[in-house]
Amino acid sequence: SGKIRIGIIGYGNLGRGVESAIMQNEDLELVAVFSRRDPSTVTLLDDRVKVVSISETLNYKSEIDVMILCGGSATDLPEQGPEFAAHFNTIDSFDTHAKIPDYFAVMDEVAKSSGKTSIISVGWDPGMFSMNRLLGEAILPVGETYTFWGKGLSQGHSDAVRRVDGVKAGVQYTLPMEEAVNRVRNGENPELSTKEKHLRQCYIVPEADADLGEIEQTIKTMPHYFADYQTEVHFITEEELVANHSKMMHGGFVIRSGETGNGNNQIVEYSLKLDSNPEYTASVLTAYARAAYKMNKEGSAGAKTAFDVPIGLLSPKSPAQLRKELL
Ligand code: NDP
Repeated sequence: SGKIRIGIIGYGNLGRGVESAIMQNEDLELVAVFSRRDPSTVTLLDDRVKVVSISETLNYKSEIDVMILCGGSATDLPEQGPEFAAHFNTIDSFDTHAKIPDYFAVMDEVAKSSGKTSIISVGWDPGMFSMNRLLGEAILPVGETYTFWGKGLSQGHSDAVRRVDGVKAGVQYTLPMEEAVNRVRNGENPELSTKEKHLRQCYIVPEADADLGEIEQTIKTMPHYFADYQTEVHFITEEELVANHSKMMHGGFVIRSGETGNGNNQIVEYSLKLDSNPEYTASVLTAYARAAYKMNKEGSAGAKTAFDVPIGLLSPKSPAQLRKELL
């Protein structure tokens, strides 16, 4: 068909997001989804695409150009990354920032010996935000870079509030502190700790007989998660939770506040407001699949990050078309 043939490994939120992103890109085609679960229990958005047991993945070596790895960063990708980079071009969203250098080294070694191209740690952070931090620093070397997250649903913190006694259900949002954002946008270049930059907001559905004061106290004093932060606890009904808090929203901004010449302030901001964090992340991964395919064809094997991929390769358009339309 002339299309780039894609496989998906792991069908959670991200996997489903990649499936729907592929539907929006005519030059890409989804060949199969590979899962560790019994394939008959995994239902795709498009029932014409097959779900295959992950143990059969290597049978598809000649049918798939790029494998998009959609497993979790904590335990799935450290295993699945090297396993599949040995046989396929891969894309992943590995987001444990402190471990990226080690993960890169492993992936680079495997991909270089298999002759494949593996683009790691793409998405929005790491990913689009990383690119904007780099641009900020390279273009305005005198200045500060600020990353604010939110408003966004935090999976780990939501799990933590749901474990509190008397809590039936709940979610946690991280929000940028408005005062801190305004100071940065004013070019003050303040020194800000994480807790001065972000506020934590909890929406809790209590059990019928729960002591609300006690729940609030337990959450606000929870070490690591909330104790060091300004934390708000709001009690809501189950209906409100379903109606207003079901989206996996996220976002944030990267701001570079620099100075050039004779003290001229130059403030650059990149902002995301996402209704669905996994669907946006999946859309980024899908665009990078195109880049991995092209880089591999050009003989560029090994691991890459967003910093190593020429941006034009993300587009389905030719370089000539891009020069004409977007430059
Ligand atoms: P999920 O928990 O939804 O999915 C992870 C894996 O769990 C899937 O690949 C799937 O593998 C398995 N799984 C999913 N549903 C089920 C189920 N019902 N029963 C059993 N197993 C299931 O995680 P997300 O897709 O939301 O996120 C994946 C990763 O994406 C995160 O760990 C995070 O690191 C990363 N991420 C990165 C971002 C960035 O900006 N770089 C932004 C957002 C996320 P299988 O099909 O094999 O069972």
